[in-house]
Amino acid sequence: MEFRDLKQQYQLHKVQIDAAIQSVLDNVEFINGSQVERLEEKLAEYVGVKHCITCANGTDALQLALMAWNIGKGDAVFVPDFTFFSSGEVVPLVGATPVFVDIDKNTYNISPQSLENVIQYVIEKTDLTPKVIVAVDLFGQPADYVQIRQIADKYGVLILEDGAQGFGGKIGGKKACSFGDISTTSFFPAKPLGCYGDGGAVFTNNDEWAGLLRSYKVHGKGADKYDNVRIGMNSRLDTLQAAVLLEKLKFFDDEIEKCNWVAAEYTKFLAEILKVPVIKADFYSSWAQYTVCFRNDMERGHAINILKEMGIPTAVYYRKPMHMQGAFNGYVFEELDYSVTEKICGSCLSLPMHPYLSVDDLKKVIDIFRKI
Ligand SMILES: *Cc1c(COP(=O)(O)O)cnc(C)c1O
Repeated sequence: MEFRDLKQQYQLHKVQIDAAIQSVLDNVEFINGSQVERLEEKLAEYVGVKHCITCANGTDALQLALMAWNIGKGDAVFVPDFTFFSSGEVVPLVGATPVFVDIDKNTYNISPQSLENVIQYVIEKTDLTPKVIVAVDLFGQPADYVQIRQIADKYGVLILEDGAQGFGGKIGGKKACSFGDISTTSFFPAKPLGCYGDGGAVFTNNDEWAGLLRSYKVHGKGADKYDNVRIGMNSRLDTLQAAVLLEKLKFFDDEIEKCNWVAAEYTKFLAEILKVPVIKADFYSSWAQYTVCFRNDMERGHAINILKEMGIPTAVYYRKPMHMQGAFNGYVFEELDYSVTEKICGSCLSLPMHPYLSVDDLKKVIDIFRKI
């Protein structure tokens, strides 16, 4: 059993994907081939925003957004305490201060109540200026953008949606990566929409920011690459990756639908024995991960061992809260509370989740859990 089965996906669509790759090789347009622009148009249309700017990976995408907003020294950027390192890593990289925020115990996403408390704390107790909320669509479910938008408006801060895991998710009819003032995603192979290497994209409706993003991603270009008007990065999506993504986008919605079926089956059978993920009414997850919680670390360790013996791969996303990562030693605010994140880090476990998980595989996982 695979944790995420990229092999089967490739075998199913091999003819089309191979042809797409071959056409890039035939044209030898490895950088800025026509597929890149076509992909940007398709992705913008898919998400329902005006601009899509592709880049080298999801981490660069986040950094580019902060650069376009000129975020730096003295600025506070609010980041959920329970996420992949990148969501916070980019903040000190541009010279700003990450301030971590506890999460909601049901959705695993940033807690609007904690967010407001932390913003007030920063205003009252520090010299920092609140500037940006990084809202992460963790495990595939969009963050609570209705409440986050109200808080953002109240305090005059911008929303950066980190949709690396949420691409394909929705609230009502509105797609993930349309909720931020700027939104980003990653095409790392194991993400909901993955390419065959690294890739990322930035989305916005704002023309000025889109222009800045296009400049920053190519050495701060002005009129062209050899006219440099600001310090930027070298962050492009390869033509090969764009060609793969154009093919994979065609069956992406179908895959997300299949993941939703798998998730519903897991929930139906596991809800009575474990804490299962909660998807809010009107929210639609792209199921980057299906993550359950045990009562404690010991029970989790026991389950991991048994599942492993039975050939079932699992993963712990994430074992360490952001505020406990050594790299963030300088950004710990002792007064702030992270008890929900700490509890979930000590008890969560992600199960095999992908569109090609068979009924037999599902049964096997569920039966083992029942025995445990
Ligand atoms: C994967 C991920 C990223 C970074 O994406 P890369 O393409 O690997 O740089 C950022 N944020 C979250 C939440 C992620 O899961």
